[in-house]
Amino acid sequence: MSSTPVADRSAKKSATAVHVPDEELAALVKRQLELIGENPGREGLVKTPARVAASLKWLTRGYDLDASDVVGDAIFEEQHDNMIMVRDIELYSMCEHHMLPFFGKAHVAYIPNGRIIGLSKLPRVVDVFARRLQVQERMTEQIAQALTDILQPRGVGVVIEAYHLCMMMRGVQKQNSKTITSAVRGVFRDDYKTRDEFLRLAHNNGG
Ligand code: ZN
Repeated sequence: MSSTPVADRSAKKSATAVHVPDEELAALVKRQLELIGENPGREGLVKTPARVAASLKWLTRGYDLDASDVVGDAIFEEQHDNMIMVRDIELYSMCEHHMLPFFGKAHVAYIPNGRIIGLSKLPRVVDVFARRLQVQERMTEQIAQALTDILQPRGVGVVIEAYHLCMMMRGVQKQNSKTITSAVRGVFRDDYKTRDEFLRLAHNNGG
């Protein structure tokens, strides 16, 4: 390692400058390695604390994001009275109880009230809340509430189905058990037919 060429070293420097790893966080990760019986000095682990720190910051970047900022001006006046739904939005989050990943899909629908949102913004709103320590139930509610606040639609429905590594890896439950949560607002809550249509569309994915 002491023989690293100068060019190589400067390349690494610019790479780390982009991520700005938090040195305090890295020091904690190094201590964590020691406490689980590892040797943080061995070759494969030397850069692990900095990598984990940078990775953790990225995976929790949702704390610095705001749903209405993410949507920006991608809201349009439009008379459309029917349900708009984006299904199978990929989702990666981390459970706040074990700091282990949970991942799956979100299905988001709403019925507008004169305003529609750019469709590509829905996955970004999901990410604002997924990229932090979460419980799936709260995240589902937060996404529904954010869209209610931003769009003031006639109704919103959110279904999330996810696999939790804290259950799968620790062998607490069956490996294939999937957790499904839903949150509804407005006509999705009050009108049986609307809710039924939404849930049918959300679950009609052949698995
Ligand atoms: Zn957990």
